[in-house]
Amino acid sequence: MKIILQNLTKEFPARGKKTSGNVMAVDHFSCQIPDGELMGLLGPSGCGKSTTLNLLCGLEQPTEGKIFFGEEDVTTLSPELRGVGMVFQNYALYPHLTVRQNIRFPLENLKGKDRLSKEEMEKRVTETARLVQIQELMDRKPGELSGGQQQRVAIARALVKFPKLLLLDEPLSNLDARLRLQTREEIRKIQKKTGITTVFVTHDQDEAMSICDRIAVMKNGILMQQGKPQEVYDHPANLFVAKFLGTPPINVFSGTVSKERLLIGGQPVLSVPGVADQNVWVGIRPEGFLIRPDGPLECEMNRIEVMGRDISVISTHAACTEGTLRSIISAETAPKEDAKTVRFALKPEKVFLFHAETEAVIPVSGERKES
Ligand code: ADP
Ligand code: MG
Repeated sequence: MKIILQNLTKEFPARGKKTSGNVMAVDHFSCQIPDGELMGLLGPSGCGKSTTLNLLCGLEQPTEGKIFFGEEDVTTLSPELRGVGMVFQNYALYPHLTVRQNIRFPLENLKGKDRLSKEEMEKRVTETARLVQIQELMDRKPGELSGGQQQRVAIARALVKFPKLLLLDEPLSNLDARLRLQTREEIRKIQKKTGITTVFVTHDQDEAMSICDRIAVMKNGILMQQGKPQEVYDHPANLFVAKFLGTPPINVFSGTVSKERLLIGGQPVLSVPGVADQNVWVGIRPEGFLIRPDGPLECEMNRIEVMGRDISVISTHAACTEGTLRSIISAETAPKEDAKTVRFALKPEKVFLFHAETEAVIPVSGERKES
């Protein structure tokens, strides 16, 4: 089922005397989630991700805007009637019920024409448990399960009603690193198998990039950018998105454009046709540097980190906004360990210019070449 958010807004009244003004948890958020896709909702803590999910499942009412499930306007529809499955960060399983009872619970509350017989319920519960591979654990209580197993029970419980929309709110944050990797692959598999339109909330860009068909990046309740993960990574709309995506993160320099040339620390590093003279933020992805003895960007060498096939050169430059800048280059072109300085050329498609005040990306009209 296709999901449409139209100008979705949620304003909470300010609490306490110190804070003045209301909190815009979600601020005129518009987007479409195509049928059957996995969409990652991404952004720092407090940016409005959970509130957006609560609006989608009906636990919160929007201050403004609409939500459509397919053609149907569900903005004022009660949560029970929306056909949404939700998995919370803390799983929220019933500790005194067995796994089987936990999964069956949502089915027992179905009313009217949706009511199921005991046999039908058992069948559904077994099918769903098989889907998430917990059929051996059905008679245990949540306290007798690992974090990963509890997470699967929570997912099974959300899936058992065959929801039209599945919402996952930071479902992996309580798992250790290895289990996170494994579980995110499983979520992707289950989502593909069932074809249920899904919103997956995370503050971890790596997680979102690796399993989602589409991502939406939020900041302060506002949608900053949406698109396919690779598209957003390759064409960030603003400095915030550029910095939020990518590990190691993008390197940011203060620069100037003069006569269609980009200068960093007064040195011309790239031609930028069509860009007016101005001060800019320059974002350079770690993979955008090439070691070259005649490269235009000279940096102080700090150290080299071995990453296997590639190496990471850590260096400093006066115009860099962070203490150090990090480049990733192939091991064959490694500079000498004891070198004092290192010179880089830049890969034009890995360099982005952002407006000094608005931080919006500045389009470069023609082909960018080394200066
Ligand atoms: P996220 O899930 O991205 O961390 P939330 O959606 O939980 O963010 O919160 C977004 C903003 O709304 C935060 O500033 C938060 O403090 C505020 N907020 C969330 N729920 C409430 C509430 N019930 N009352 C008041 N403010 C709230
Ligand atoms: Mg949250």
